Amino acid sequence: MYYILTMTIFKNKDDLFKNISFLKGVGPKLSKYLKNKRIEKINDLLWHFPYSSTDRSNMTTLDKLEAGKIQTIKVKVIKYNFPRVRNLPNKVICQDEFGKIDIVFFNSREGYIRAVLPLNKWVIISGKINFYKSKYQITNPSYITSLDKIDYIKKNIPKYSLTEGINEKSYRKIIEKVINNLPKLDEWYDKEILEKFGFKSWNESLLKIHNFENKDNVGNKYVRRLALDEILSNLIVLSKNRRKFKDSKKENKLFNNSLGKKILNNLEFKLTKNQEKIIYEINEDLRSNKKMFRLLQGDVGSGKTIVSFMTVANVLEFGCQSALMAPTAILAKQHYNLAKKMFDRTKIKIELLTGKTETKIRKKILEDLKNGKIDLLIGTHALFQKKIDFKNLGYIVIDEQHKFGVKQRMSFAEKGGKNCDVLLMSATPIPRTMMLTIYGDMDVSRLTEKPKNRLPILTYSKPEKKINDLIKIIKKNFSENNQVFWVCPLIQDSQILDYSSVKMRFEWLKKKFPNETSILHGELKQNEKDLVLEKFLQKKTKLLVSTTVIEVGIDFPDANLIIIENANKFGLAQLHQLRGRVGRGHKQGKCVLLFKDNLSKNSIQRIKILKKSSDGFFIAEEDMKMRGFGDIIGYQQSGEKFFKIADPVKHGDLFDYAENYIKKIENENIDKFDFLVKLHDRAEIIYTKND
Ligand code: ADP
Ligand code: MG
Repeated sequence: MYYILTMTIFKNKDDLFKNISFLKGVGPKLSKYLKNKRIEKINDLLWHFPYSSTDRSNMTTLDKLEAGKIQTIKVKVIKYNFPRVRNLPNKVICQDEFGKIDIVFFNSREGYIRAVLPLNKWVIISGKINFYKSKYQITNPSYITSLDKIDYIKKNIPKYSLTEGINEKSYRKIIEKVINNLPKLDEWYDKEILEKFGFKSWNESLLKIHNFENKDNVGNKYVRRLALDEILSNLIVLSKNRRKFKDSKKENKLFNNSLGKKILNNLEFKLTKNQEKIIYEINEDLRSNKKMFRLLQGDVGSGKTIVSFMTVANVLEFGCQSALMAPTAILAKQHYNLAKKMFDRTKIKIELLTGKTETKIRKKILEDLKNGKIDLLIGTHALFQKKIDFKNLGYIVIDEQHKFGVKQRMSFAEKGGKNCDVLLMSATPIPRTMMLTIYGDMDVSRLTEKPKNRLPILTYSKPEKKINDLIKIIKKNFSENNQVFWVCPLIQDSQILDYSSVKMRFEWLKKKFPNETSILHGELKQNEKDLVLEKFLQKKTKLLVSTTVIEVGIDFPDANLIIIENANKFGLAQLHQLRGRVGRGHKQGKCVLLFKDNLSKNSIQRIKILKKSSDGFFIAEEDMKMRGFGDIIGYQQSGEKFFKIADPVKHGDLFDYAENYIKKIENENIDKFDFLVKLHDRAEIIYTKND
């Protein structure tokens, strides 16, 4: 029987990549539903694990949610939010006596949602808790049931999170057939590794997980084996990508820093040793005949811009054009103004191109670019959206690249053409353990030294009932010619979770400072936002009440105090980024974290870390430990996970191991892992379309 089934399901291992409709019992209708669960190929079924029934029978109240954890909650459905706009997820707001949570559905229809989450009914929901835009949420919950079925979750049968239109029994039949008849794969690990970690074969590991034999399904060796598989396949793809880059030859760029020296004279400060070292590294890359694909990582305010300008100068000296791209128009403009100043009294021709550039001017710029009359083009990603022809583009710098995502960075890297070097700059500190996993295809320079004149930002915490004290403090700051940010988590007032709303806070502050206060939030249109920021930059306003939309990277030299309300609703890394908005000039930057009275242990620990450290990398590491990885980089926000099995916090040792291992096998026969890489299909995330 077993033999016959094997024969009918998989003739060879590549059948795993056939469409699920290839399986008996999977018709067009079921295929369609499974597609909503991102299951299209047979292989996708394998990674859709059953979840632990024992784990999930533990109910958590909404005051005890922990981001990054899989938790089960008992809540009442109170409101639907079906935006009916493409790509916007459907949302259901639920609550218990202690708080509220958003249940977010990508790819689920209204009818289904109304059926499983009836209004005003109590339900049990299980899934991974996220903390996004200051709210707890579960995205595509793995499990929803009514209260009368509560016993069901306690049964220890493999249970799969399903979606509309999928009958549980028939699904289990299908998955069981697949799992019990997996093609036998050749082992890609040496005996040494298998023994070291106590790993079993790929087949056995999958089988055990799907049969739910080991209840401790996070720490067990079956999961750990597949986790290492996944981590490694990720690193292999990045490593191959990196090699591809290194192997593509380009023209050496030759220069002797003459232009760079000129602009150095326009600076009011001396470069730090760290800046000099990185400039040197980049120069070496520019001079070589291998294409540069480098990430410059440095905390907010560490002085990345000048590093990029110094190296741009060399490319211009050599005679190639350069492009600098920023995520927003206002940041692009700030870079443009600075570039104008720095390249003053040189022959360098600089232009600014954003979505706001008038058509007539835009046309002229495009023409001049083609003719080589513009040397340095600064702009937003309008720079790359339309077909723009450079005469001889030699260098692309992309600022604040974390806003652009993984796939995009590869496409930028290729857009420049054959002779183009690429520098990405990011202020989002990635935990050290994740560097290679995220940026393994690039060389990385880290700017860790802050400019000497920079005083570390002083961080205070204050209970909210003392909010009136802040009025005095703000007044004092105004008298010292300082500007102030006031950050609130949410736009609208919400009754149950008493977040403070920006609007409410704005009204309150406006009464105290009628002429100085302005408001900024995500509901404003981009040009409205820009206007508010321009005014603040020109010091026409002095107090900016804002959500977290205050842009990364913009220099407000006189903004020296930031007040962050409801600070425990923000992640550590985010708080660190926020406070980095102040203290960028010569004066002391200060940050006040406002808290509700009832601080959890967790919150107290977080405040301690922030007060103690101004090292973004350390903070990112701690943040990841506390909240999980997905929240830091934001992959889960798109409903897509970076890893299916591996967990950077729980499997830290495997990540470390894989990092060393990849270095070892890089130069050997990496090909024996080809099938593994195919199984995990990292290529889709990492390769560009040219591959
Ligand atoms: P970020 O790394 O966040 O992009 P910036 O490049 O905007 O930081 O630099 C922040 C501020 O620090 C700017 O006002 C810049 O002029 C200043 N700065 C950069 N390098 C130095 C230095 N070596 N000494 C003093 N100030 C510096
Ligand atoms: Mg910057």
